[in-house]
Amino acid sequence: MTDGPSYGFDTLQIHAGARPDPATGARQTPIYQTTAYVFRDAEHAAALFNLQEVGYIYSRLTNPTVAVLQERVATLEGGVGAVCCSSGHAAQIMALFPLMSPGKNVVVSTRLYGGTVTQFSQTIKKFGWSATFVDFDDSAAVKAAINDDTRAVFCESIANPGGYITDLDAISTISDAAGIPLIVDNTSATPYLCRPIEHGATLVVHSLTKYMTGNGTVTGGCVVDSGKFDWSASDKFPALSQPEPAYHGLKFHETFGPLAFTFNSIAIGLRDLGMTLNPQAAHYTLMGIETLSLRMDRHVQNAVKIAGWLETHPAVETVTYAGLESSPYHDRVARICPKGAGGLFTIALKGGYESCIKFVESLEIFSHVANLGDTRSLVIHSASTTHRQLTEAQQVAAGAAPNVVRISIGIEDAKDLIADLDQALTKANA
Ligand SMILES: *Cc1c(COP(=O)(O)O)cnc(C)c1O
Repeated sequence: MTDGPSYGFDTLQIHAGARPDPATGARQTPIYQTTAYVFRDAEHAAALFNLQEVGYIYSRLTNPTVAVLQERVATLEGGVGAVCCSSGHAAQIMALFPLMSPGKNVVVSTRLYGGTVTQFSQTIKKFGWSATFVDFDDSAAVKAAINDDTRAVFCESIANPGGYITDLDAISTISDAAGIPLIVDNTSATPYLCRPIEHGATLVVHSLTKYMTGNGTVTGGCVVDSGKFDWSASDKFPALSQPEPAYHGLKFHETFGPLAFTFNSIAIGLRDLGMTLNPQAAHYTLMGIETLSLRMDRHVQNAVKIAGWLETHPAVETVTYAGLESSPYHDRVARICPKGAGGLFTIALKGGYESCIKFVESLEIFSHVANLGDTRSLVIHSASTTHRQLTEAQQVAAGAAPNVVRISIGIEDAKDLIADLDQALTKANA
């Protein structure tokens, strides 16, 4: 396919980045299951190692199947380049790595995927980095949290466990004024529902594990570069603006312009951190992305129907879904994620902890698992699983109170899902 900026999302999700295999004409992108690539000659090898020529050396850095996926996700997000990696959590480290150094901090939203809260509040300390957690609805607090050592601002578009949408325009206005890149985790929305770069994001990170692959077969991640940030405007980002000793003093921003972050992430990040996505996983994700818009439309339709039904159910205390008119975040849907508020939300049961246990154990179509964004409908009772080590006060603060169940609505028949929820709620209340 030739580059056509006018192609629509449904066309790009199938074709972007792919072309018939030059060696065989294979129509589908082959799985290049190879570790290394033969150099034409010693001069070719030298040019590749000096980053003077783009090509394939070794699959820790680049692989043709993974490259198609990188171009596809970058195109769907409206970015200039992307780097895939082994998981969503790897993507978060890969996004921060070129920006941070010991003593530097990242200002992050309090509304984040539970695993990300742990990664940011505990694990990154071992690199000498720190995270400052702030309520991203409080613009003054976000602004106040940014100091001379801040190197990034981080939030989710539609925040896991659902029901909350970040005002990306308001946050990017603050990060722009401070000269700091904004990183948006777009996992729960996908580029079909939300395009963070259009709202001022510098980098977009994904867990490809969820809706992008879509059927619970792969662990993968991706960092998309908007190409819009001026890494040389201050002395805050020396990894991108200053000479790199491992490449004979090459300056990434000067040499690669808008692709500086992407090239740095491959040449330094994947080279030395080694969080590489394997070509088989890239293949499954490419298959998934071909139907992304169709699936997301159905996830949203089902979620709207089911959240609306649950809201009127006598056993249910609250439903937090931004797609409901009752949600305080409903106003942000049209501006931030115009095609819908996603397929993820939480419910609180009047019956409390025991009632939730009975509920998740009684479901027949829904599975009780630590995953989301699958074609199949999934639930998790966080208080007895992912958040069980926390005190009750911490559980409440994390949106995982003892009576809360997170629901990831699949693409099955809505009437069957409603019938399943209904019978399980009846048993939970008995
Ligand atoms: C699952 C998830 C992650 C982590 O992704 P993994 O692929 O499990 O490492 C990060 N952010 C969000 C919003 C997620 O849902």
